[in-house]
Parts: sequence; structure tokens; C-alpha cells
Amino acid sequence: MKQQLQYLEAMGIQAWQLRRRETAAPQEPAAGSPADTQGAAPSAESLPPESSVLVQAPDRPDVAGMGWGALEASVSQCTLCELHAGRTHTVFGVGNRHAEWLVIGEAPGKDEDLQGEPFVGRAGQLLNAMLLAVGLQREQAYIANILKCRPPNNRDPQAEEVVCCEPYLARQIALIQPKIILAVGRIAAQNLLKTDTPIGKLRGTVHHYAATGIPVVATYHPAYLLRSPLDKRKAWKDLQLAMATLGASRP
Ligand code: SF4
Repeated sequence: MKQQLQYLEAMGIQAWQLRRRETAAPQEPAAGSPADTQGAAPSAESLPPESSVLVQAPDRPDVAGMGWGALEASVSQCTLCELHAGRTHTVFGVGNRHAEWLVIGEAPGKDEDLQGEPFVGRAGQLLNAMLLAVGLQREQAYIANILKCRPPNNRDPQAEEVVCCEPYLARQIALIQPKIILAVGRIAAQNLLKTDTPIGKLRGTVHHYAATGIPVVATYHPAYLLRSPLDKRKAWKDLQLAMATLGASRP
């Protein structure tokens, strides 16, 4: 417990431990309220739904049959959407290919594009702290994004980009067969669940990924949490829901 509290501190949830003072803390907005769906600070979490959701992935039988090596090579050479032109590296995904926890984010940012790894920099450090809070080293989870290439100026993914890239992630999910998917951020959650429901309303409920039945828990993106630290307490609740869901799935 002491170790977990240290990890929560690393997430910036010091107030979480001070339960005696919680009554004095600001009330969390109800899911779906303006404060919940729009947040205290402007952010990608609060923007209107993208047109990139509710789009079906094309049939890619070539990708659906690939093993890890062929899949990684295919992604590294991919020119299916315009994002290939501006990338430094593709960002395939990292971690344990037999992981119980699969973390899925939005798309590479500048640092990720330069390093070829998802969730580096400050947002990556916060994600690492979130994983430690559920008892995982980063290497024990698998971490990937909806898109493998960086959108220019970190703009939101466009519908055709998501459609082109989706078979790669679908194949990763099929190969990993995770016990739980943690969708971090609005873009990841909406595209995985094929919905335009705001992230504030997707939180707090266990969803399922397509026909696989793999449970999906949505939470805020670490980059958003860095801008809106009060919502870290909500993210911790999401992590607790994911842990409980994973625990319930075990014999
Ligand atoms: S974002 Fe995905 S579909 Fe587009 S070029 Fe990169 S790997 Fe290919």
C-alpha cells in the first residue's frame, strides 16, 4: 500500500491520500456535465467529436494474417495515408507482446516521432506513473496508438488516416490478446468504441472492443491530465475500474 501511495504521488494525486480533507476539495462534476466534458482548461479532451469515428476499417486480409515481424515491417514501410510524408519514424508500439494490459493512445507527437516510441516525454512519465499505480512497470504493458505516424502540428487524426491505420492496431490486439484495454484520451476511446460519445461519458463504464469481448476502460490522456491535474483523481478511479475488471476476469 505504501508503495502504491508513492506511485499515486508520482501521478500527482497527493490529495488522494488526504481523505480527511476531501470534503473541502471541489466537487467533481457529474459525467456529462459541462465541467466534465469540457474540463477546466481547453484541451483535446473537450473538443467536439471528430468525423474520424464511426468509420469502418477496410478489409485487409494481408494484415489480418501477419505475425509480429511482418506487421512491424509493413508499418515501417507504410505509405497508405499522407502522414507517411512527414514522419521521422513510424511508432509501432512497445512493451510486452503477451501483456494483460494494452494501453492505446491517440497518435505520436513530436518526441514520439523523433524516438519511434509511444508516450515519451512528460506525458509518457505520467503514463508510467499511472501504470506503476496499478502495479505495472511500463515494460509489462503493451503501449500503442490509434495512428502509427505523427499528424502535422499534433492535429487530430482524420477519418481516412484512422481507416488506413486501423488494421495494424486490430492485428496487434489480435496478437496480444490483452485482458484489458485502457483507452487513454478521447480520440483513442471514440475510435476503439466506434462512438462519438464524449470521453466524460465513456468513463466509468466497462465497454468491449468490437467482437472480441475484450473489456475497454476509457480514461483521460496523460497530456490532458498534465494540463488539468484535478482530473487525475478521476483517472485513478478509471484505473481502479480497470483493475477490478481485470480481477473479475481471472478464475
Ligand atoms: S499513419 Fe498508419 S496508415 Fe498512415 S502512413 Fe502511417 S502507418 Fe500508414
